[in-house]
Amino acid sequence: MKKYFGNFYRPWTLHVYRVAIFVFLLVAIRQQHSWYIAQRAGEAKQLTPVEDVIPFYPNAASLSDWDSGHGGQNVFDAEGKKLGHIIQSSPDADEIYGFSGPTNTLIAFDDTKRILGIEILRSDDTKEHLAEIEHDEAFLQQWNGLDRDEFLAQNDIYAVSGATLTSDAIADGIARRLGGGNRISRFPQEIEISEVTPFLEDAAAFAPVEKRPFLQQVLDGEGTPLGYVSRTSPHADDMIGYQGPTDLLIVLDPDELVIGLAVRNTYDNEPYVKLLTEDEYFFNTFKGFELMQISEIDIVESGIDIVSGATKTSVTVTEGLIHSALEIARTREPVPPKPLIDLRARDIGTIVVVLLGLLIAFTRLKGKRWLRIGFQGVLIVYLGFINADMVSQALLLGWAKSGVAWSVAPGLVFLTLAALIAPIFTGKQVYCTHLCPFGAAQDWLGKRVPWRIAVKGVAEKILNALPVVLLLWCLIITMQHLSFSLVGLEPFDAFVFRVAGWATLAIAIVGLIASLFINRAYCRYGCPTGAMLKFIRFGGSASGRIGTRDYVAAGFALVAIALMVFR
Ligand code: SF4
Repeated sequence: MKKYFGNFYRPWTLHVYRVAIFVFLLVAIRQQHSWYIAQRAGEAKQLTPVEDVIPFYPNAASLSDWDSGHGGQNVFDAEGKKLGHIIQSSPDADEIYGFSGPTNTLIAFDDTKRILGIEILRSDDTKEHLAEIEHDEAFLQQWNGLDRDEFLAQNDIYAVSGATLTSDAIADGIARRLGGGNRISRFPQEIEISEVTPFLEDAAAFAPVEKRPFLQQVLDGEGTPLGYVSRTSPHADDMIGYQGPTDLLIVLDPDELVIGLAVRNTYDNEPYVKLLTEDEYFFNTFKGFELMQISEIDIVESGIDIVSGATKTSVTVTEGLIHSALEIARTREPVPPKPLIDLRARDIGTIVVVLLGLLIAFTRLKGKRWLRIGFQGVLIVYLGFINADMVSQALLLGWAKSGVAWSVAPGLVFLTLAALIAPIFTGKQVYCTHLCPFGAAQDWLGKRVPWRIAVKGVAEKILNALPVVLLLWCLIITMQHLSFSLVGLEPFDAFVFRVAGWATLAIAIVGLIASLFINRAYCRYGCPTGAMLKFIRFGGSASGRIGTRDYVAAGFALVAIALMVFR
């Protein structure tokens, strides 16, 4: 009994220790990345130099300071004529990541608020995918000429082949910046009848207005239309007074002329807002205006009386009203909401392949040679060349930093979960044995030549250590945000050879040639992802005793702690 218990107890203890180290490293990477992002906060608001916008505005001579109206900068020619404005997708898009990180995109608009073009300013995504996108004019120019609503109404985008995730993320980031998607109001409380009755005393109910999502019709008890009501949130949520934004109620008569304004709620400094609400003249300034007229007001030229003692609050509330008026006045076709998970045919294909791989791995089917070889062909062609869905350090560490791409790549997420969960709970490295296209390619090449190479002695020790050293290097690159491409450390992107860099291609070619002479040479002596999956495999330690791997893992944890402490 004691013997049985001892044997049972020790492997589990070690396994928990290993999984705990793995989880700790993921948390450390995430925490370090959050710190890094926090350090970079505000960078997006750095002013863009005029040289950077010449490709969009050849006559540009100067750029304005930060314009809180659109949250960007205005572009002027030498005569001071406004040519348009630029905005950046960061920080709104900082949580939207492609393959391994978010991208900050500059969006240039002409003077009629139509897109002139986009430019990638900064990206934490993989260099190879990004380079492919930056050279694809069809991608960069696909939105040229569209206004904001037309952009947001577009559901199909042209994604660069081999860099689909990055393409989708850039498009989503711009959409987020332009207020697309389900933008959440800072003021969740909906307008109530009691707020409207001071202006329309018979108000009894609201009714939606077709194609005017931000406007509600006000009805009396008989259902007779009395006017309309709206508010400045969420459009003006980014407009900060002294301390925060303010939500303004807007009441219109049946001809859509303003009959009343009132502060609904605010995060601004209460005494200043109180000064504003007590100043009847300020709100009366806008009475009798149409929304479109308000949207065209130039706050400086119009000479609007700013409330003395609450200058910043009243200027911000006015800017918020001007900005929101255009949004409320617009008619728009309803944009179908994006599904929580965007399950496309390619994702379903990957999920089916993963399920088949698991079926073969965990049943007697694994003994059928013809099935194994045929399925490996599916892995190489479909998972590798067609879908390019593979688990890699670039993918795992990118997700550890920025979060998992549940919605944009559900197939890849399913594959990754299978790769991680199977070794932890079953002790089987199913990804390496039954799902990895590069492992399958090595198997196909194995035993194709009659010569074998035996790696022994010091050479074997050095080569055995190589995957672990690479894994450590991946950790350091990620936590230090070094500009070194993780994709270039592994061969997997070679399946997308149009995108692959020389380092990736070289590793793939050398790995495949080596596998002619050594069974799965790259898996044994080069793959950091394989080493990682081996480490978290239950029962991975044959003796159940603490071994070199466990000390090395503790070393990884110490390195991670050191990188966080001395950052
Ligand atoms: S060790 Fe690496 S290359 Fe080999 S099968 Fe596993 S993940 Fe693929």
